[in-house]
Amino acid sequence: MPTFHPSPREGQTMKRSLLASAMGMAFALLATASPAQEAGGAPPRAAADYPAPQTFPKANEKAVAEHLSAARKLAGTDLFPDMAHRCIISPVYPVRVRGIQFDGKITPTRIFDQLYSVGQNAVSAYVLKTSAGLILFDTLDNADEAKTLLVPNMEKLGLDPKQIKYIVITHGHGDHYGGAQWLQQATGAKVIASAIDWEMMEKGPKPGVFKDLPLPKHDMEMKDGDTLTLGDTTIRFYVTPGHTPGTLSAIFPVTDHGQRHVVGFNGGTGGGRDEAGLRASIPSFARWGELTRAAGVDVLIANHPLHAETIEKEELLRHALPGDPNPFIVGTDTYQRYVRIQAECARVQLARLGLSE
Ligand SMILES: [Zn+2]
Repeated sequence: MPTFHPSPREGQTMKRSLLASAMGMAFALLATASPAQEAGGAPPRAAADYPAPQTFPKANEKAVAEHLSAARKLAGTDLFPDMAHRCIISPVYPVRVRGIQFDGKITPTRIFDQLYSVGQNAVSAYVLKTSAGLILFDTLDNADEAKTLLVPNMEKLGLDPKQIKYIVITHGHGDHYGGAQWLQQATGAKVIASAIDWEMMEKGPKPGVFKDLPLPKHDMEMKDGDTLTLGDTTIRFYVTPGHTPGTLSAIFPVTDHGQRHVVGFNGGTGGGRDEAGLRASIPSFARWGELTRAAGVDVLIANHPLHAETIEKEELLRHALPGDPNPFIVGTDTYQRYVRIQAECARVQLARLGLSE
């Protein structure tokens, strides 16, 4: 175990960084920077210009209250953060989401015997290890992230990127397929998405930063109810519209210290982004609830860390004492409550927009 005394190499680094920060402070003082700038923060602005909550002038306040109340009851205390994020923070205080969901490095973590979390702070990526190679879910924002973050994260966990046989794109937004073309070319893996989201990637309008992303080669389309088997592992896929029209969700088994569990990986926990998406997500989550209940799903993962406190759970897992439960195993009932909260938050948002279900 390392001691608390810095090694000579660390000591040198510390000296250099102290000198650098002293020089930085001197420069900052000469440039009369504000305390916020010295601390690395944004330049100050007038309070009148602070970001404000989103407003909903057409809101049906009674319906908002009823659905928020229902969501809150479903959440209890254990799922309060998930309810708060989907029903309140994301739709009403989106600036807070941008503050937390920034591009950043996180510690890659093996979260089940066969499942590895290899993404970044803003968006997740997972590797499922089978007896005949690896299946990667999502590819981060772009080739640079795939090369600089995802691949080294895999290697830190002892996974060989050359063993990736399939790359699953959970939905056709750039933060999930951005690194796909590079990974496809680097590994020879087949890229999978739903037909609808392939079309969205290839022909749909793309917002700002995703406009010029290179597209992966159109390898495979997964239909609702299709399975993919690699070695000893079978994944069942469902098309679960809402977040995008062709969001792909997956159910697959894993083990935790040899004990079998079933993962429910809904690709659309980002929720409906407009009226059509919100409307579509309500029956879609109801159906996902039935499918995951029938499959005995008791493990919750999501494609953004913020949607399921992934980073916090991984920190706990890496520090788990013998016998501590795996925090990703939420149990079948809690998983169902999580799914119902997603639908209830869509109802809240429709009510905010003055629309009925
Ligand atoms: Zn998305």
